[in-house]
Amino acid sequence: MRRIAFAPVAVFISLSVQISNILKNTVNEIFSSIGKVLGTKPENVVIVPHENPDGDAIGSAIGLGEVLQNYGHNVNIISPNDYPDFLKWFSSELKILVFERQKKEAKKLLSDAGILICVDFNEPKRAAKMEKLLTGFSGPKIMIDHHPNPSDCADYLVSEPEYSSTAELIFDVVKKIGFEKHFNHRAAEAFYTGIMTDTGSFSHNINNSNTFKVIAELTGWGIDPGKIQSNIYHNFSTGRMRLLGHCLNNKMEVFPEYRAAMIYISKKELKEFDYQPGDTEGFVNYPLSIKNIVFCAFFTEKKDFVKASFRSKGDFPANKFSQEHFNGGGHLNAAGGEIKLTLEETIEKFRQLLGDYKHLLEVTKI
Ligand code: 5GP
Ligand code: MN
Repeated sequence: MRRIAFAPVAVFISLSVQISNILKNTVNEIFSSIGKVLGTKPENVVIVPHENPDGDAIGSAIGLGEVLQNYGHNVNIISPNDYPDFLKWFSSELKILVFERQKKEAKKLLSDAGILICVDFNEPKRAAKMEKLLTGFSGPKIMIDHHPNPSDCADYLVSEPEYSSTAELIFDVVKKIGFEKHFNHRAAEAFYTGIMTDTGSFSHNINNSNTFKVIAELTGWGIDPGKIQSNIYHNFSTGRMRLLGHCLNNKMEVFPEYRAAMIYISKKELKEFDYQPGDTEGFVNYPLSIKNIVFCAFFTEKKDFVKASFRSKGDFPANKFSQEHFNGGGHLNAAGGEIKLTLEETIEKFRQLLGDYKHLLEVTKI
């Protein structure tokens, strides 16, 4: 009898210890400071995700926005550029401005804002054309992110690279700062989406059991995981599916001797397939399904540069590769960058680099 009576207490203690161990990069004073900044009178709050926002960036912004709006703040989200249609179905009614299209309105919102929160990126450069507005913001700046090596650009930084996603991290931060009571099912839906997309439907980037604990709590809010999965992954245009076929059949080069592969696509081809923002999201992952491939790249020709995406397995550092050769960064196994070369020059550069990395690629354990 006694054991049964004590069991819930023990579970509670082990859960709270788990969470504080996981948020190990951030000292408790930061959480109490953030709690104080956000726990004052209602303010105008602006939340900014990174350029070309993905499910985690948008999900984190909406989830946090919902919690803060519920508290009483007036929340606006400003995305540096447009984001794909498969991220435009959330039940949240928070306004998301697109800076590229609504510069004047966005600037006014920022100048009227008392608090700025940056989510899912670690340096102002990742906010593209909003960079200067973010660095020049005069009020308190909070940054919450899971990418390694953040720059020193926020007054309050929560940087936890062990987290699967910024959405999972924000969920824990919300608890840490005592804002759990302002949670709602719209926030749960958004956080679930962030975790689901950054982990490839719970298949990678998961470093410990916290991810599944958070997922268990989120599903308790009455969200519909099947519907969310469908909204994200069964919502593509015909053009995207045909473009994927074209990329895999005609534009993928495999280098078995380097355990690597690349896919590249030109502006002209994108036009032919009626490319819409987000249409090539996820294409970079496909070559990793080939037996023994440990590193792959996806190159997209843009107006005057080439956008690069990298994925890897095991310890092969896609982020270091991107940082050193493509002005980028990211996670160990998922990174991106940009380079001011033609598409042909980029492809050639990548081929040559593979030679330099031959040994590392050979010894990568999977
Ligand atoms: P994706 O390949 O999906 O665009 O990006 C993969 C990861 O790399 C994401 O975590 C993203 O934040 C990061 N990333 C993508 N592009 C860049 C970039 O240009 N610079 C840096 N520093 N990180 C990037
Ligand atoms: Mn993320």
